[in-house]
Amino acid sequence: MGALARATAARPEAAHQASAYGIAERGGPLVALEVPRRAALPDDVVIDIEFCGLCHSDVHSGRGEWGARQLPLVPGHEIVGRVAAVGAEVTGFTVGERVGVGCLVDSCRECDSCKEGLEQFCERGGVGTYSAIDHRTGEYTQGGYSSSIVVNQGYVLHVPESLDPAAAAPLLCAGITTYSPLRHFGARPGSGVGVVGLGGLGHMAVKLAKALGASVTVFTTSASKVEAARALGADTVVVSGDPEAMASARHTLDLIIDTVAAAHDLDPYFATLRRDGTLVQLGLPAEPMPPVNPRPLLGRRLRYTGSPIGGIAETQEMLDFCAEHAVAAEIEVVDAAGLNAAWDRMVAGDVRYRFVLDVSTLPAPAAPAPHVPAPAAPAE
Ligand SMILES: [Zn+2]
Ligand SMILES: [Zn+2]
Repeated sequence: MGALARATAARPEAAHQASAYGIAERGGPLVALEVPRRAALPDDVVIDIEFCGLCHSDVHSGRGEWGARQLPLVPGHEIVGRVAAVGAEVTGFTVGERVGVGCLVDSCRECDSCKEGLEQFCERGGVGTYSAIDHRTGEYTQGGYSSSIVVNQGYVLHVPESLDPAAAAPLLCAGITTYSPLRHFGARPGSGVGVVGLGGLGHMAVKLAKALGASVTVFTTSASKVEAARALGADTVVVSGDPEAMASARHTLDLIIDTVAAAHDLDPYFATLRRDGTLVQLGLPAEPMPPVNPRPLLGRRLRYTGSPIGGIAETQEMLDFCAEHAVAAEIEVVDAAGLNAAWDRMVAGDVRYRFVLDVSTLPAPAAPAPHVPAPAAPAE
């Protein structure tokens, strides 16, 4: 609480320095630093952050694995907190309300996708919550491993009070990334949904598919995860290296949510789909995938597709759905000093199933003056 209160105590709507953890040097660890937060524009919501989930994307971005990024870089796009202040034109958000921010803090609002509420497909490119240039302000965006954030009201979500705020944080990326394709491709009572991989995304896919009424089959490479998958609600667990088990799943599924981010052969999974079944890929392997065999696609009119996060309206729908069905992430809360170790454990797959940063453990800003000018962008 202390760090948050100090960061935005005097005039939360004024420009201020937020305490944060981020990457300050190329190849370096996460370190304590401060980032400037703009004075609230008339349609901005100022949020005191309580919790922020740790996503694999944070590591890829922070460690330069998706290309060199401007530094310092404060990751985090699974943000839950409370409204500290609102701009004069904000409607629908009140001070003190619990809110969330996911992977987008803006988009063009004019293209066909934005007009349809599908901001994740913005044709000019949505503005990422961190490591992106904000079209409107020209700022370099900094994410949720920080004490506060200022976001346009159109990209802020209502987080129902009945959800635990720490366990709700991962819904803002892992939750919507799995909910969106489950809904779009028709997971419903009577349908068979397969989930490949049981990490941050996979465990949310199991819970959400069950809550949508589907029968869920989890595919895992590891026999040690069978009990864990059942504990999450899986009806059937198949160890993918067991040919007999894979054969028993043949032609039983309508939809597969594939969360594996390493290259892998899809043929064994196509074999488990019924006619008109769909395999949705959510993981983005760094290396090329084995070629897709068109024979099962033709033979049973299968679809092979992918899906990124979700739009703002659908993210709100997902949060409300999770509140209604008491669905949230399985989490391990870490403090700021444990962030680097948590990243290493996440890369090693050693977490059930999502780390969440307790933002109150961030060190307070050294000089919490309300009008500190933004530092010049580092030369890149
Ligand atoms: Zn993410
Ligand atoms: Zn757009």
